[in-house]
Amino acid sequence: MRVALASILALAVVACGAPQAAQTTLPVPTPSPVEAPADTAVVVPAPIALECAGAFAQGGVIVCRTEAGAAVRVDDVDRGRADASGWFVAGFDRDAPAAAKIEVRGTNAARERSFAIAPRQFSIQRIDGLPPETVTPTDPAVLARIARETEIKNRARESRAVLQGYNDAFLWPVGGRMSGAWGNQRVLNGEPRTPHYGIDIAAPTGTPIRAPAAGVIALAEKDLHFEGGLIMLDHGQGLITYYLHMSRLDVAQGETVAQGQSLGAVGRSGRTTGPHLCWRMRWRDRNLDPSLAIHGLAVARAHFGAGASVDPGAAPAGFVQWTQAAE
Ligand SMILES: [Zn+2]
Repeated sequence: MRVALASILALAVVACGAPQAAQTTLPVPTPSPVEAPADTAVVVPAPIALECAGAFAQGGVIVCRTEAGAAVRVDDVDRGRADASGWFVAGFDRDAPAAAKIEVRGTNAARERSFAIAPRQFSIQRIDGLPPETVTPTDPAVLARIARETEIKNRARESRAVLQGYNDAFLWPVGGRMSGAWGNQRVLNGEPRTPHYGIDIAAPTGTPIRAPAAGVIALAEKDLHFEGGLIMLDHGQGLITYYLHMSRLDVAQGETVAQGQSLGAVGRSGRTTGPHLCWRMRWRDRNLDPSLAIHGLAVARAHFGAGASVDPGAAPAGFVQWTQAAE
């Protein structure tokens, strides 16, 4: 554990130092107040320690550990409490500023830390030939349907399952070519729209979709106007993944699923031009990049010794520079 931790810290120092070679100050990791015994699998922080690891970048996700039940504030907004083991999750928007502030307040003490958030570049993605009613609906019946479905989705995203799926090493839900990157500004049928908050993985209709990590099904709807077949999977601490355009659903709302369990199958339902999985992720009200989460959560898991280390495959460009195992 010590060796792994040291190498991660060394990596973080090198990565942070590289772009600012002209400067003399390098971030020096402060040692934890209490050293865990070398044979202990999980590093237990001292009371009101605040330790985080993961992808510190726009769209990235991190896992933190602090005092059990501590109140959590991120960027001056209350974000619930750490769980009974002191775990909590945080994520950063596509347009997140250069620093994130995380505060924890325990029974007798509090702690505040600031983390550098790496900026990313996003491109423009044009999609033409979509049915006009799916881009700019005008039919009152369709508008009423969209309003109804928005309410159902908004309710589901308030789901707060009490489990630690975020500590699983996330698996890719399907294999295949990435046909649409996260965060691109979209122009649909010539109209500028909100950024694409998913990654698109091209796969034939019927390809099984696996749960990347344990969770509770917050929503399972077969036929929504935009999303078609949609599943929302709650991994705990406000981290929820979405699976769009599905042709078949194998699970129902409220069900607890294990990592690797089939959620259903790839399809082309809803607003889409061909069969693919649009995979999305949210932490509370922030949209995250699932491809960063695969790597960020693997880094966090290795850092905290929360399970066997896993090889998440090729990292996205620039990923090493975004990775920190803070403190
Ligand atoms: Zn998509």
